[in-house]
Amino acid sequence: MAKVSINLATGSIQKEELIVGIDLGTTNSLVAFINQDKDAQVINDTGKGVLVPSIVHFGPTGDVTVGNEAKEFLINDPQNTIFSVKRLLGRSYKDIENYKDFFSYKVIDDDSESLVKIKVGDKFYTPIELSGLILKELKARAEHALKTPVNRAVITVPAYFNDSQRQATRDAGKLAGLDVLRIVNEPTAASLAYGIGLNPEETKTIAVYDLGGGTFDVSILQIQNGIFEVLSTNGDTFLGGDDFDRAIVEYWIEKNQLNKAELVANHELAQKLRLKAEEAKKAFSHQSLFNEKIGDIWCTLDRNTFEQLILPKVQQTITACENALRDSKLTINQIDEVVMVGGSTRTALVKKMVADFFKRPVHDEVNPDEVVALGAAIQADILAGNRKDILLLDVTPLSLGIETMGGLMDVIIPRNSKVPTKAGRQYTTSKDGQVNMKIAVYQGERDLIKENRKLAEFELKGIPSMPAGFPKVDINFLLNADGILKIQAVELRSGVKQEVEVKPTYGITDDQVEQMLMDSITHAKDDVNQRMLIEARTEGEQMVYTVERFIQKNGSYLSADELAETNNYIASLKAVLANGDKDAILKKIDEVNEFTRPFAERLMDQAISHAMKGKSIE
Ligand code: ADP
Ligand code: MG
Repeated sequence: MAKVSINLATGSIQKEELIVGIDLGTTNSLVAFINQDKDAQVINDTGKGVLVPSIVHFGPTGDVTVGNEAKEFLINDPQNTIFSVKRLLGRSYKDIENYKDFFSYKVIDDDSESLVKIKVGDKFYTPIELSGLILKELKARAEHALKTPVNRAVITVPAYFNDSQRQATRDAGKLAGLDVLRIVNEPTAASLAYGIGLNPEETKTIAVYDLGGGTFDVSILQIQNGIFEVLSTNGDTFLGGDDFDRAIVEYWIEKNQLNKAELVANHELAQKLRLKAEEAKKAFSHQSLFNEKIGDIWCTLDRNTFEQLILPKVQQTITACENALRDSKLTINQIDEVVMVGGSTRTALVKKMVADFFKRPVHDEVNPDEVVALGAAIQADILAGNRKDILLLDVTPLSLGIETMGGLMDVIIPRNSKVPTKAGRQYTTSKDGQVNMKIAVYQGERDLIKENRKLAEFELKGIPSMPAGFPKVDINFLLNADGILKIQAVELRSGVKQEVEVKPTYGITDDQVEQMLMDSITHAKDDVNQRMLIEARTEGEQMVYTVERFIQKNGSYLSADELAETNNYIASLKAVLANGDKDAILKKIDEVNEFTRPFAERLMDQAISHAMKGKSIE
């Protein structure tokens, strides 16, 4: 049921704003949405087709074209025609320098550590800006075809993309004026397009084989309770349909006895041959012989020969499947479904070899160029809340916990826990006669609460007066499917209870969450060291407190020398607590323990003998 609202400014009825799914590909990009029949549908802007080649051309007057029109310029104006920009997203020059010959345009290498830039004429562009231009074109086409503004999107990325590449994709969306609600893994989107993972009850293991224009990857996914977990990925970022085209060109060069050096110089002919080869390859989807001419060059090929030409490349993808399977620690018969993605999986030999390897028929019912975008649209629809039948299966992006002694974070619900979830832990007091307990709730991955985000603070009051360590305070966290966190504290001996509710996602953006995760990785080592120091300090302070309390109560059982020496030990423990490192503190704690243990034992003996005489040591 689509929601309808009235635009008060114009008085017109407005459809609920839709969220589109975008497959931002290395070779081709496209947009999909959920139509009124609730089906995922790709956007076909009149006369322009569904697939938008991921190519940007800069004209002499600064005019920018994207897609098929830009592709035309690959032949005549290669320096100003940017293709395969996805390979550069979130990458430094160091990451790509082995492949620099691949790019016919200028990739700048001034600082090998920072992100790459591309030079066109006298201007510099970042891959984010270039991807932004492609996304802008996609947005415009979607708006034109749907006749409605498109401001929100889900964008897909390969499962192997790292944080920096994902962030770059998000930023590109932002530049195009899109609010990127989520970055989704391409194999996850492809599974959704096949309806796999839409039933929260089912558990499935699937292999997604994605052979595009220039890249290949295979992912093994486990889907459980609607959560997609990537068990392993493998592949080759320089292997794809382009290699098939090249193999065909090589074959024609040989058959026509063309001079290779001349061909390298003759860009136009080389490009024409390449396009003809692609045409032949695609023709083999429905015919077994291709026979055409470019000038007086015979471009003849039959399907059998084609399959022999590409066999080594396809074999490489099968080896990658073996590796992915090995890394996932699964066997072939544990894979429930195999999903084919990418234009190059239309090649019959590819389908056959993948099916043979996995020993089962592969899913190829959905158009392999469109399957990722269609799945992204389904994900967008789920996020828009239009599929109430599907539980919005989500995980907590950040850990939730409370502050413990010394300002440390004690995690109760770890990040990536699936929602709804519930967890709890028992705490106690640190001081004798403590009747109130402060409970401060935080989210974040850092060891120190001061680096995390505070969600709530309350006091559990009315704990009966007891010695330190006696009260039992249960703290329970309950995170429901709407993302509301209920925190409950109960002192078990007395039953005193206190409860609060917060919404952890309120007032925090996805970008901030990502930043917090990044920070926790950067500071991991420092954090661990700090935590160990604070834990040692807390232990030392507890020790000072216990020994001083002991002397106060039982000092009369110690000799004057013993008392003086105990005081010395405590003084030196206090000194290291003030400015010593973790090891110095732990060493002093051991010494104090060592020295005071006999007193405790003696006291115990006396307590027993007193008790036998019917007296209390109090
Ligand atoms: P990417 O995900 O890398 O953007 P695509 O999934 O769009 O790439 O795949 C593009 C590749 O698919 C190109 O190499 C193209 O030649 C190839 N392709 C498209 N149709 C066919 C076909 N019928 N047979 C073989 N290859 C095809
Ligand atoms: Mg793709």
